[in-house]
Formats: sequence, C-alpha cells, structure tokens
Amino acid sequence: MLTIRQLSKQFEGSEVLKNINIDITEGTTTAIIGPSGSGKSTLLNCINLLELPSQGTIRLGDHSLTFPTSEKLSHRTILEFRQQTGMVFQGNHLFPHMTALQNIMLGLVTVKKKNKNDALVCAKALLHKVGLDAYGERYPYQLSGGQQQRVGIARAMAMEPRILLFDEPTSALDPELVEEVLEVMKDLKREGMTLFVVTHEMAFAHRVADSVFFMDQGEIIERGSPQEVFSKKDNEKLRYFVSRLS
Ligand code: ADP
Ligand code: MG
Repeated sequence: MLTIRQLSKQFEGSEVLKNINIDITEGTTTAIIGPSGSGKSTLLNCINLLELPSQGTIRLGDHSLTFPTSEKLSHRTILEFRQQTGMVFQGNHLFPHMTALQNIMLGLVTVKKKNKNDALVCAKALLHKVGLDAYGERYPYQLSGGQQQRVGIARAMAMEPRILLFDEPTSALDPELVEEVLEVMKDLKREGMTLFVVTHEMAFAHRVADSVFFMDQGEIIERGSPQEVFSKKDNEKLRYFVSRLS
C-alpha cells in the first residue's frame, strides 16, 4: 500500500535521509525507533509531503510521485496525496479556539464537503471511538494531554486516510496518560488501520508492531519483526539505544 524507493532528502547539503526503501502492507503497524536526529520526523514529513524528498519514489495507494519532479508540484497534487495520510504530532496541534467536536468537524466540512449535520454525526462517532463521548463541547485547554491526543487521532481519522502517521504521539505526555493514547492506537490496529509510528515506547514497539525499523543517521539500519530486531545483539548502536530506554 505504501512503497518507497531510494528516497533521500538533503537539507542545505547535509544528507538527512539516505536511500530509504520501504514496503508497507495494508493493516500493519510499523514502529520506527532510533536516536534523536536520525531522520524519523523527516521521513514522516516526506511521506505526507510536508517536506519534499530530494530523490526517490513514493507510491501511496493510487498515487505515485518521483522526485525530483519534472515540474513544480501543484498545490492540488500535494493535497490529494496528503489526504491519503493522517498525521498525529507529538504536541497538541488542535485549534485552541474550537471545541473537540469543531476540531474534528472542520476537515469534514472544508475538505470532505459534508454538510454540518452529517459532519456532526461523523465527528460524534469518531469521538466515541476514542472514548470521549462526553467531551465534545470542551476546548483543548479543558482536556488533558492524553485526551487532546485522542481528539487529534479522531481528527486525523475523519479524513479517512489510508495510513496514519504518528510522530512520537506520547512523548509530550505525563507517564500516566501514555497508556490511554496507546490503547486507542491498538484499537485502530484491531480495526485494520495501517499505522506508521515513530515512538520511544519500546513495549508498544515490541508487543503491538508487526515490524520495527531502527533508524540511524538517515538510514534504516535494522528492520524486521520486533522479535528479530530486539534480539540483534550484534548491532551495538541498536543495543545501546534500547538499553538506554528500557
Ligand atoms: P528525528 O525526528 O529522528 O529526531 P529529524 O528528522 O527531526 O530527526 O532530523 C534529522 C536531521 O535533519 C537533524 O540533523 C535535523 O537537524 C535536520 N533537519 C530536520 N529538519 C530540517 C530543516 N527543515 N532544515 C534543516 N535541517 C533539518
Ligand atoms: Mg523527530
């Protein structure tokens, strides 16, 4: 469903992603782990075109783009491609002046062109899915960090993406709030959603992910099932990274 070939990204001459190749099957969960600065966020940003790759091909569903493109990408092409992905960031990216329901409804009305009533029904169903039925009228500041992240997930799901991209969705949360967000992600996996998750939660990577990528200095240097990757005793960088976290 997502295929990436020979993707690289340079920022002002420094190579941040090097020859990335990825094949993601629908319905699977992939955990991306690796030290700070290894290119994890840049990889997610390239998949949804928040950053444009310097070289390489990304195929997502019916859309395929090869970089560098022969002509400048149109806004429309970028949006069509991006709409196949949903993104959940580390911190709170909800609109502060809108309630939880309004945050979810916004894209349903503006992008999906639903009327207000249909959008409301849909947004309520999504809030229910993330366990927040009673919180629709609250503003972000009236929600805990974990609740805000769950609204963020509901908002991303509202666009019916083919794949959900998470960039350290629990890293900014107090420890006691991490589990409720991970539970929602597990529910989505059970429902068959495809998840691509940058995370430092090694237990999640171990128990929930179907495959784990370990990134270092812009490359995926280990990949496989969690069992395979976490038992790579011969990879010193990986061993050091995991031992520091657990
Ligand atoms: P990670 O998410 O694994 O911590 P990032 O993808 O954020 O890593 O960053 C990888 C490298 O790319 C870092 O060295 C970072 O400084 C650099 N980088 C990220 N974004 C930009 C940018 N917009 N301009 C220049 N350098 C960047
Ligand atoms: Mg990052």
